[in-house]
Amino acid sequence: MRHFVGFAALGALFACSTGPSDIETCEGFTDWQSSPYFLPYPVGSSYVVDQANCSPPGNGHRGVNRYGYDFLMPAGTPITVARAGTVLQVEESHFDGEVAATGFDNFVVIGHAGGTADLYGHLTHNGADVTVGQVVAAGASLGRSGNTGNTGNKPHLHLSRHSCDPVALGNASCPSLPVTFRNTTANPAGLSRGSRYQAF
Ligand SMILES: [Zn+2]
Repeated sequence: MRHFVGFAALGALFACSTGPSDIETCEGFTDWQSSPYFLPYPVGSSYVVDQANCSPPGNGHRGVNRYGYDFLMPAGTPITVARAGTVLQVEESHFDGEVAATGFDNFVVIGHAGGTADLYGHLTHNGADVTVGQVVAAGASLGRSGNTGNTGNKPHLHLSRHSCDPVALGNASCPSLPVTFRNTTANPAGLSRGSRYQAF
């Protein structure tokens, strides 16, 4: 499925014009058991990963956006902070069902020391429980998932880590980075497409 992150005005930066022979490499994952990342939903719940890293050609997790996860979940599902940080961006004005190409994402961006930032995409209308400038701990309530922006009309939470704030500076300037999670089953190369992961 095509999948744009950030706001639609930047859609051209995320266009997938790759052909079937294009091969991308996703590597450089750090030890999952000591990762600063927790699954972005409450302990005890589990969701299936639709797109993961290095999606096949024609999907959104390609190129500068090749690292990232789409967790399939109904709109309105509680989501939590995956990694502690400071809230840099909140957009929650858009409505579920306003999907590509006319719709815009709701999102939250959380920054870390060193300049990296996590993007949580496709939140529901008024779906953010955090505000810009707020310092948040891993596991804290972030808000509720939704179906806004380029979801392929498939409600899910998009989570990706970037080298800088992709909403402020654009995904092309802030390429995505590998992420592993410490509170689930072994994931030495990140989460796998089509698998379900429970938060422990
Ligand atoms: Zn995605």
